[in-house]
Amino acid sequence: KAKNRLTAQAYIDGVLSGNRVILSRAITVIESNLESDKLLAKDIIQAILPASGNSVRIGVTGVPGVGKSTFIEVFGKHIINQGHKVAILSIDPSSQRSKGSILGDKTRMEALSTLESAYIRPSASGDTLGGVANKTAESMLLCEAAGYDVVLIETVGVGQSETAVHGMTDFFLLLMLAGAGDELQGIKKGIMEMADMVVINKADGDNIKKSELARLQYQNALHIFPQSESGWMPVVTTASSTKNIGVDAVWDEITKYTELVVKNGYFNKNRNHQKIRWMYNNINEALKHLFYGSKDIASKLTALEKQIIASEISPVKAAQDIIETFKKSFE
Ligand code: GDP
Repeated sequence: KAKNRLTAQAYIDGVLSGNRVILSRAITVIESNLESDKLLAKDIIQAILPASGNSVRIGVTGVPGVGKSTFIEVFGKHIINQGHKVAILSIDPSSQRSKGSILGDKTRMEALSTLESAYIRPSASGDTLGGVANKTAESMLLCEAAGYDVVLIETVGVGQSETAVHGMTDFFLLLMLAGAGDELQGIKKGIMEMADMVVINKADGDNIKKSELARLQYQNALHIFPQSESGWMPVVTTASSTKNIGVDAVWDEITKYTELVVKNGYFNKNRNHQKIRWMYNNINEALKHLFYGSKDIASKLTALEKQIIASEISPVKAAQDIIETFKKSFE
């Protein structure tokens, strides 16, 4: 395998020239857990960084079955017809254990995947959401450097993954169904609050009336939230991905959004904030790893737990003591 490896410069040149084969191989390096690949990945990212960032980053979420891949297929084609190049990545927390459930299936988005201007990459796997999020975000930078000016990051509407997607995108799109209760759809208030746009999908046939009703309900619900710092008022629309109705309107809204936030400065402010947060998230993860990964700390913690239960030491004092022990290990 190592024999097949390209030089860092070959990856960099390939990505910057928009070579899809090299882009895929570079993403494989990003996703690799081999120490030698991690070093290579660092060099590649460092070199392409100045060429990244020139895209509209769109997060797409919604429960399995809501129609994400059907929507993205039609939406992607629409954007490409407007002259854009679109990359589609995903964060799939379930792929940490089993084979990915989203984007893993090769039959998904078949028509889109044959287009020269579309790049579809199945979800990375990893031990932690933080690790998977890192890989997806760095893959996004590579796609941008390769000339993709729209990046879609898909995730399922459960767990923490949508917070991760929200933290790396400019616009957050939530797909929903009419008639299914919020709880049924696994939609927590926090997710609604992140949404810049809610699309009630499958608004066709017998579903049209129900969907319009749901649209009004969600529109009202969203107006209760305090206005976002972006200055954008979230919109709720209906669409049918299979009949290609209302899908182009989603792009119109995203275009309006980006015009607004570029003009009022929020676009850059948010991007800067996200980059800084990305660093701190990694520091926090690494610190936790360093602390809990230490054998000394682990055995002392076991002893402290017993003392706490026996009321021999207060939880606060125990925490202070263990941090002192940790600090001493660096002296
Ligand atoms: P995902 O799991 O969110 O990616 O959902 P899929 O895109 O795989 O769609 C799940 C099912 O819903 C498929 O059978 C689709 O054909 C169907 N579907 C998707 N969008 C629509 C729509 O707008 N209208 C109708 N009637 N069915 C849809």
